[in-house]
Amino acid sequence: MAKVKIAQYWGAGCGGCDVALLDIDEKILGVAEMADIAFWPIAVDTKLKDVEAMPDKSITLTLYNGAVRNSENEHVAKLLRQKSAIMVSFGSCACFGGIPGLANVTNKKDLQDYVYNTTFSTVNPNRTRPLPKYQAPEGELTLPVMYDTVLTLEDVVDVDYYMPGCPPTTEQINQFLDIVEKHVKEGAPLPPKGAVIASEKTLCDECGRTKEVTTIEKINMPYEIDIDPKKCMLEQGVICLGPATRAGCGAKCLDANQPCRGCMGPTAAVLDQGGSMLSALASIFRTADNETQLSEDDILELMTQIKDPLGTFYAFTMPKSIIKRKVKEKKAGVKQ
Ligand code: SF4
Ligand code: SF4
Ligand code: SF4
Repeated sequence: MAKVKIAQYWGAGCGGCDVALLDIDEKILGVAEMADIAFWPIAVDTKLKDVEAMPDKSITLTLYNGAVRNSENEHVAKLLRQKSAIMVSFGSCACFGGIPGLANVTNKKDLQDYVYNTTFSTVNPNRTRPLPKYQAPEGELTLPVMYDTVLTLEDVVDVDYYMPGCPPTTEQINQFLDIVEKHVKEGAPLPPKGAVIASEKTLCDECGRTKEVTTIEKINMPYEIDIDPKKCMLEQGVICLGPATRAGCGAKCLDANQPCRGCMGPTAAVLDQGGSMLSALASIFRTADNETQLSEDDILELMTQIKDPLGTFYAFTMPKSIIKRKVKEKKAGVKQ
């Protein structure tokens, strides 16, 4: 019987998505039975040259996790795209840039200045930096080139399906593996290209907290108040990205009495998760008694209360947002 050939690659991410594939309960035994692992750097010792030798489209399914942060990430993404019939943007780093995408608030030069020169623990009197090429006595050593801007997978290759989540849930992974197995073994149809393997609802739809129409006067950090575990976070002045976030996680953070940070990314109806959340927040922020819309002063008051606007509204989606990155002015004569 035809077996599914699976590849998994870890780009700029934390490794949680790799673990998620191992963490799919008893289904992992089924995966071993139904699939051959064509490439999975943390689990099997296939080399890139082995992948290069494979016929085009001979890998059934590649689950690419992590953002595209350097030339190696891009090279492997392109190679796996060429060799795979189905390319999945696996996890929120691949789909939207994820937490690594927050590096788009700075640039490569400032980031490396900080890491290799400024931190208290750094001793680097010669200001040595990682070099893409170095001639050692034993021969030339190379490193991937770090990019100035963190990219998503679809910025560099054609993507067939998107599976958001940080990491994707066991249910999402099992659901999609079942679809692919049935496709390979029984010829069952695949979802339409571009489908998102996740719920179409918002997190608020699956959150069990009571919601009442109300207004708020103050934004609270979660540690500043005793959060009522039964009431909607927003009504308590705590920013929760539920209205702008795709459902599917089972409201995990809310169960732990913490607000949603938006890791499932936006729903299909939302173009920009942060912008959508800001507008949801503005709609419940107190306006002057005789006003229906926020005045300029109200907006300023709202914004000054939000301590880290980019980290609050774009923790997982900065590279996919309309902003995409913070533009840094280049100083004359300074190479960025
Ligand atoms: S999506 Fe989350 S779990 Fe997956 S690699 Fe990125 S940070 Fe890690
Ligand atoms: S805003 Fe947050 S706490 Fe309120 S209903 Fe939505 S998910 Fe639940
Ligand atoms: S509640 Fe929000 S941040 Fe937490 S797991 Fe769910 S989608 Fe992600």
